[in-house]
Amino acid sequence: MQEDTPKPLSPPEAAPPEAPLPQEPVRNIKDFTLEGLTDWMKARGQPAFRARQVFQWLYQKHVRNFDEMTNISKDFRELLRRHFHLGLLEVAAVKESADGSRKFAFALEDGKLIEAVLMPNNTHFTVCISSQVGCAMGCGFCSTARMGLQRNLTTGEIVQQAVELARQAHLDGDDRIIRNIVFMGMGEPLHNYDNLVSALHILQDDHGFGLSSRRITVSTSGLVPGINRLARDDVRIMLAVSLNGVTDEMRSRLMPVNRRWKIAELLQACRNIPSPNRTRITFEYVMLEGETDGLENARKLVRLLHGLKCKVNLIPYNPHPGSPYRPSTPEHCREFQRVLLEKGLLATLRISKGQDIQAACGQLITGIPAARGAKRQATTA
Ligand code: SAH
Ligand code: SF4
Repeated sequence: MQEDTPKPLSPPEAAPPEAPLPQEPVRNIKDFTLEGLTDWMKARGQPAFRARQVFQWLYQKHVRNFDEMTNISKDFRELLRRHFHLGLLEVAAVKESADGSRKFAFALEDGKLIEAVLMPNNTHFTVCISSQVGCAMGCGFCSTARMGLQRNLTTGEIVQQAVELARQAHLDGDDRIIRNIVFMGMGEPLHNYDNLVSALHILQDDHGFGLSSRRITVSTSGLVPGINRLARDDVRIMLAVSLNGVTDEMRSRLMPVNRRWKIAELLQACRNIPSPNRTRITFEYVMLEGETDGLENARKLVRLLHGLKCKVNLIPYNPHPGSPYRPSTPEHCREFQRVLLEKGLLATLRISKGQDIQAACGQLITGIPAARGAKRQATTA
């Protein structure tokens, strides 16, 4: 008997599977400025006010689902869902300080973690947000530097930190609003210029987060081309510059960025900001015992900043494990401040918030793997 010959597995007459329709990738809707979203709407025959409506849901009502946008038709919500996601950030951990500030670790889509801090005042909140995962600038006194730069945050990831913190405050039944945002979390904001500027547009838009430009502070380690660009692009913000040293030798030792752009060039870039936009610049100065805190440095600081509309913010050093630096004593910080004030320089001494939970300036570092779900740990009774 002859064996059956096996049949071919796929008959040639079978119709080829239908090719999938080319699909636009699902994008983070919070990467869009109002202008960008309006263009997107217009391209789909929608009126401009539709984008404004969506913006209000995103940034004023903090929606977590397209279906919450009740003044938008079901069909259009469906279209939005097909093209966008809401760019939510998962709260991976929360730590609460004795002074009421709360540090949040947010898990990004790729599992990386960033940190942001919600700080209460009597009448409002100030939030401190991140612009990058880690930082490339390598400042010797800063714990974020130890992470290196892992990546830039997208526009949506930057703004969502503020949205989520506003939502968290609201969840607790707190009706105080976020009145100030400071870019003093992880990262060098001007090293992520384009995403920073789009985020600023959203944060300042009346239909978006709605903050006045005077309520947003961008702190830079002194990336001179970035400062020049802010001036050229007429970006309205409060500028803070981390000076932290009064000679190039001292500053280069602490901040490698100074090897590239020296103090004179940095201060010239500050002086070059056209006068209508040149609000008072804040120079931050970290008080490191025996490094930056000598009283002769206070006098040098006065000479360096002569004629510039500015103020100095003295930051008591926040120690962190493994750092070789020591904080100046509170008495010495006040003495240093007195010298500046006596010479007519406006100078404040920062009260660092959240030190007990490593949420103060330069203490933000994430190395722990992303945990699922919020873990709330009160570190103090
Ligand atoms: N990268 C930006 C913004 C984030 S750092 C910048 O450097 O300006 C925010 C501020 O924290 C800076 O002024 C920086 O000098 C300060 N800082 C960093 N590490 C610190 C520490 N351990 N103690 C106190 N201030 C610190
Ligand atoms: Fe980066 Fe600012 Fe820290 Fe320097 S002080 S490493 S610029 S975050």
